[in-house]
Amino acid sequence: MAHPIGHGPGAQFMTEEEKAAQPKITLPLIKRVFSYLTPYWKQLVLVLICIAVSSVFTLLPSILTGKIIDDGLIGRNLRLLIFYIVASLAVTFAANLIGVAESYINTWIAQHITFDMRNKMFKHLQNMSQRFFTSNNQGDIITRMTSDIDGVESVITSTFKSILSNSITLIVALIAMFRKNWILALIGIAVIPLFVLPTRRAGKTRWTLTREAQDCNDEVNGILNETLSVSGQLLVKLFCREKQEYERYEKVNDRMIRLNIKERMAGRWFFVVLHTVTSIGPMLLYLVGGILMMKHDSSLTVGDITVLVALLGKTYMPVNSLLNIQVDWMRSMALFNRIFEYFDMPVEINNPRFGLHPDTCTGAVEFSRVNFSYDPERQILKNVNFKLEGGHSMAIVGPSGSGKSTIINLIPRLYDVDSGSVRFDGTDVRKLDLEYLRSKVGVVSQETYLFNGTIRENLLYAKPDATEEELIEACKKANIYDFIENQETGLDTMVGNRGLKLSGGEKQRISIARVLLKDPALLIFDEATSALDSISESKIQDAIDPIIKERTSILIAHRLSTILAADEIYVLKDGEIVEHGQHKDLVAAGGVYTELYETQFKRAEAFEKEQDAEETPEGSAEAEESAETENKGEE
Ligand code: ATP
Repeated sequence: MAHPIGHGPGAQFMTEEEKAAQPKITLPLIKRVFSYLTPYWKQLVLVLICIAVSSVFTLLPSILTGKIIDDGLIGRNLRLLIFYIVASLAVTFAANLIGVAESYINTWIAQHITFDMRNKMFKHLQNMSQRFFTSNNQGDIITRMTSDIDGVESVITSTFKSILSNSITLIVALIAMFRKNWILALIGIAVIPLFVLPTRRAGKTRWTLTREAQDCNDEVNGILNETLSVSGQLLVKLFCREKQEYERYEKVNDRMIRLNIKERMAGRWFFVVLHTVTSIGPMLLYLVGGILMMKHDSSLTVGDITVLVALLGKTYMPVNSLLNIQVDWMRSMALFNRIFEYFDMPVEINNPRFGLHPDTCTGAVEFSRVNFSYDPERQILKNVNFKLEGGHSMAIVGPSGSGKSTIINLIPRLYDVDSGSVRFDGTDVRKLDLEYLRSKVGVVSQETYLFNGTIRENLLYAKPDATEEELIEACKKANIYDFIENQETGLDTMVGNRGLKLSGGEKQRISIARVLLKDPALLIFDEATSALDSISESKIQDAIDPIIKERTSILIAHRLSTILAADEIYVLKDGEIVEHGQHKDLVAAGGVYTELYETQFKRAEAFEKEQDAEETPEGSAEAEESAETENKGEE
């Protein structure tokens, strides 16, 4: 993405997109922007002084040139000549020194402001609800955290500074020019548009090309992201799309180089025009100055004319920059606006002010008359009622999309109910301290998420101070310790990008171990719908069976073996609990469960048995290994 702020070619032109998204610049917005600067007002005053002094100092050598020529060279006075040369050098040196100090303080302020903003934004985002993350584009969120906030830095280090230093330079140069000779000063002002207009025109062409090149670049990145990611590559390979992907890439790449060449050449023409035009101004001053000096005004000196020419050169850049400042200003405000938009998003799931932390916790859960919807148009859960006593377990079954995972989301308050209540150990979850509640609920979700690190690091995420013994015990309980022991580096084995070096079953078992380390009062196991092979499956089953016997658990189940492990079964259909009870009674009832049993569980069970008979010669270790390895490929 293009950097939103900058003085690159054509930075002075707004895109259609930017024009459409122009913020209303109101007093409260400006006040809010400046509220970020006020804590650093002392440093800002220092920067202002530095900018003012260095702007004046930068112009002084041009003014001293007149003295060097008139008093030193034409006046043939060596002492004065040396004095003015030394003074001129000293002033230039001082201006640069002050410039260094100014940019240090300026960068310091900008970095501190963006540091504050980044932290505030990160904290705010951490508090945002799951709804925010599911409905917003991840790239957009990251752009606000990175590019937008970086943009703020350049607003401070360049836009604000540019307004100030250019205004001062321009005012001082114009005063000095008028004091030397008002006629020549007026001529100087008259030629400024000669320089400014071509600059703007060339800038616009380059800007259009730069934007086209950026779009092209985005397209290239898109292709790379799609095709060079792990899953993208898998798709390309399996569908034999290598040739087509290469051709697609080559086409965009080709467009890219053409645009780049065009852009560079537009730059070259620009400099030819620029250099020709900029030399017209000084020549005009020499001509008119010469005529004035020779024919009319005997007080006008060679030095004066030289000073005027030098000062004229110094006005080009400030005029150009100040003409663009409105666009820069608009962009800066748009940037702040985008950031404030995020800051102003309400935190949906609020931690209650005096959240309760009950001492004992059995993990009991009760849903009473719960209604819930992700979007107002579509209700997902309808009048859901159930009670799970501490120490018991329940299975939730139902067709895909019936709302099973949604029920789970409401317990650790990833979302809040629309009406009704969810009680945890008898207390409405909205009254419990959020951290307390989430520490008591452990979820092994369908999509196991492992960080790119070692198995140990992934486990320690749940309990940073866990001892080696605790880690081993959790892994044993989760039935994954044998696998870890067989790895060369044991617990320090890398799991790969998002755990992709492991099979689905291994990942699941590591995530079970991770949840066990957390030691929650309530364990929720959202069974993966994707078919694991029967050996992986039975290993997971062996792991969870004893676990659910010893703590309160909710199992979202797709397999008969898991369902049978639970004390009670709840059947969900279209967001409503339509049946509940024991397996035998439910099968006999002839309702939704019977249908599920006939179409799903029974067939899966038969398939598992068949596979077991074929694949497991008495549970040999080799067969297990090969099943695990095959599964890796599927992942
Ligand atoms: P499965 O067995 O396939 O995992 P499920 O019973 O767990 O399904 P849920 O994930 O609870 O079903 O989804 C219930 C309904 O809510 C689905 O129709 C789904 O499209 C919708 N849904 C789920 N998550 C969201 C979300 N974040 N925003 C909007 N709608 C959602």
